[in-house]
Amino acid sequence: MSAVSTDSAGATASQETGDDDAGSRIGAPLRLMAVHAHPDDESSKGAATMARYAREGVDVLVVTLTGGERGDILNKAMERPEIRADLAAVRRAEMARAREILGVRQRFLGFTDSGLPEGDPLPPLPDGCFALQPLEIAARPLVRAVREFRPQVILGYDENGGYPHPDHVKCHEVTIEAFEAAGDPDRYPDCGEPWQPAKLYYFATFHKARLMALHEEMQRRGLKSPYEDWLKEWIDDPDKPGPEITTQVPCAEFFDLRDQALLAHATQIDPESSWFAVPRDVQQAAWPTEDFHLARSVVDTEKPEDDLFAGVRDSVSSASGRSG
Ligand SMILES: [Zn+2]
Repeated sequence: MSAVSTDSAGATASQETGDDDAGSRIGAPLRLMAVHAHPDDESSKGAATMARYAREGVDVLVVTLTGGERGDILNKAMERPEIRADLAAVRRAEMARAREILGVRQRFLGFTDSGLPEGDPLPPLPDGCFALQPLEIAARPLVRAVREFRPQVILGYDENGGYPHPDHVKCHEVTIEAFEAAGDPDRYPDCGEPWQPAKLYYFATFHKARLMALHEEMQRRGLKSPYEDWLKEWIDDPDKPGPEITTQVPCAEFFDLRDQALLAHATQIDPESSWFAVPRDVQQAAWPTEDFHLARSVVDTEKPEDDLFAGVRDSVSSASGRSG
């Protein structure tokens, strides 16, 4: 396995941290992989969906491309020298806690956070960071992870990264590359046995219809909506309409776990922040789903969907039936 150490800059490729009850689902027939750029991204996008599927017996694996070592400390209460001293280790511990709460497995793929460049002109990205890696180097550990884990469904970011961070845009590129290459025996031949995932989705979290619904429900209850200015300034760009929502997964009863997982990322998430400005019961009433865009599928499925495994379940159960 010497190839592992050459995967990426300073990477130890497969640092899986997942010896909790998720162990009982290892080898489950349905497998869901969520591809994220930084620790905490898994808790802000699709977290309640993962918690729901995990509790239904699906084997859920989060892969995190970078260690998040260039993230700022965004919670004043955590601005302490001992935390600054080894932010990477703190963020790994936060990730382990969030993973436990969600009931999923998680693996770091070993790249270095690119940081969010700010200023005009933008400063260059730091040497060796994830966003600067050539595509084949950047996608390699993910291709290997897909071939090892063999997910039917992969969740990832759209072409805008969902958020204009260079690591998120890169994350989109490697997810597409892995979806397309993992099943092809001629590509990445030293990265394991080919495996073709059936479906690839993009997260559709902060879309206008959802924000409007939350905003209106807050107003209806006489509460102050945190989205007033955001919605006022929202520009509907016909060239960038945002991904069409094809799939809505009901998961309101898991919003509580999602919030707990977010809070576990204590350096990144301020409990006083806008993440928690809309009470949970308002969210559950106004928008009880998490939403996705089906970007690729090699199986037939009817849209709109309410299940990420639509079109997959039948073939999986008949296949396991055949093998006894
Ligand atoms: Zn991120």
